[in-house]
Amino acid sequence: MFGVWAPGEEVSKLTYFGLYALQHRGQESAGIALSDGERILVYKDMGLVSQVFNEATLDSLRGHLAIGHCRYSTTGSPVWENAQPTFYTARDGGLALGHNGNLVNTPELAAMLPNERRGATTDTEILTGLLADNPGLSIEEAAMERLPQAQGAFSLVFMDETTLYAARDPQGIRPLVLGRLDSGWAVASETAALDIVGATLVREIEPGELLTIDERGVRSLRFAAAAPKGCLFEYVYLARPDTTIAGRNVNSARVEVGRRLAKQHPADADLVIPVPESGTPAAVGYADGSGIPFAQGLVKNSYVGRTFIQPSQSLRQLGIRLKLNPLRDVIEGKRLVVVDDSIVRGNTQRALVHMLRDAGAAEVHVRISSPPVLWPCYYGVDFATKAELIAGNLSTEEIRDSIGADSLAYIPLDELVAATEVPKNRLCRACFDGAYPIEVNEGARGKYLLEKACGTAAPLAAAPK
Ligand code: SF4
Repeated sequence: MFGVWAPGEEVSKLTYFGLYALQHRGQESAGIALSDGERILVYKDMGLVSQVFNEATLDSLRGHLAIGHCRYSTTGSPVWENAQPTFYTARDGGLALGHNGNLVNTPELAAMLPNERRGATTDTEILTGLLADNPGLSIEEAAMERLPQAQGAFSLVFMDETTLYAARDPQGIRPLVLGRLDSGWAVASETAALDIVGATLVREIEPGELLTIDERGVRSLRFAAAAPKGCLFEYVYLARPDTTIAGRNVNSARVEVGRRLAKQHPADADLVIPVPESGTPAAVGYADGSGIPFAQGLVKNSYVGRTFIQPSQSLRQLGIRLKLNPLRDVIEGKRLVVVDDSIVRGNTQRALVHMLRDAGAAEVHVRISSPPVLWPCYYGVDFATKAELIAGNLSTEEIRDSIGADSLAYIPLDELVAATEVPKNRLCRACFDGAYPIEVNEGARGKYLLEKACGTAAPLAAAPK
């Protein structure tokens, strides 16, 4: 998610490059909304940022402010209708919005929409309607009134014809940062996107804060008291290694996790190899902490997306085979420590151990740089239901047996937390320990709940399980 307010700049291209830097956060669809001060244009489609936009499209999008989004669906199917930015026309003009996160009180929020606005299929669409449709209120006033009503994870960028807005839920579950450009301002999900467009990091947008950015500069309002609970899984997997969250560089945190993993769970082995690329920093740390040499034993096809982000089980399994290929010369006859970032369903690791043995590995010791994922996430990661989470159903020894490894061990939760250098009480760890910082009503769970409610689940859903 990216936003820019910069008169005189090619804001469509800045947004494109910002989204390119954030492609790992969502690969199903991409879109840009842009305004020239008079009207908002939205261009979006299914696919990667590079598939959705070309030079001619970007050249045709002219203006001084823009927002962009690349989507990974956590509420609503991965279909064009649900792509972002969302757009609403209200009495006084338009509103476009991009959302990172997932709301947990969508049924109550949906009930607040006027009748003619009902039928939204995503939490984001509902929020857009609530912000846009407030006769007599400015967007800023509407946001101050409506945002406290939203519960769950929401890092937002939104815009009307003249103004860029950014807001972050009171827990600050998903990251959001403000950057300075020579001629304006940029807002991005991760600091790495600011680096890539040449913006200087100003600061994180605070939990519970609303920013308004226009020709008068940046104004800050607080719509709720901050109760920080940043997502721990950002440090494990979601964020880019060259991003900094809460002052801690993600790569450094991952390397430190690897060092701690080596101390906690040593292995008698010849080589440490990463599952590229998200397992690489922790493997570097494991090698450093254990003294076992580091090697690249798997070649990754960088053009295949992150496996668990794919929306259906069949694609997921195909993705694993497409994605990684072992280097036989490196691993043949070797006792391997294989470092990966997480085990969700166990399919990747099972296929991987099998591949490594086929390629001649003498032993395969799997080390995981996060604790077992035991609980679903309701705040913007589509992990699967508890029934699909392998650690929710099997013991570590049973998982080891299921994936065919010689040994298996995970970093303990407190060691992972220590590596982030963020106090434990300021982190959401719910997928690891079940302590959900924001209550989730039973009736608000389920990726397709809105589509089911309006009777569109069958045609819209790709392959809901
Ligand atoms: S449940 Fe896990 S993935 Fe979801 S926000 Fe909390 S730590 Fe992050």
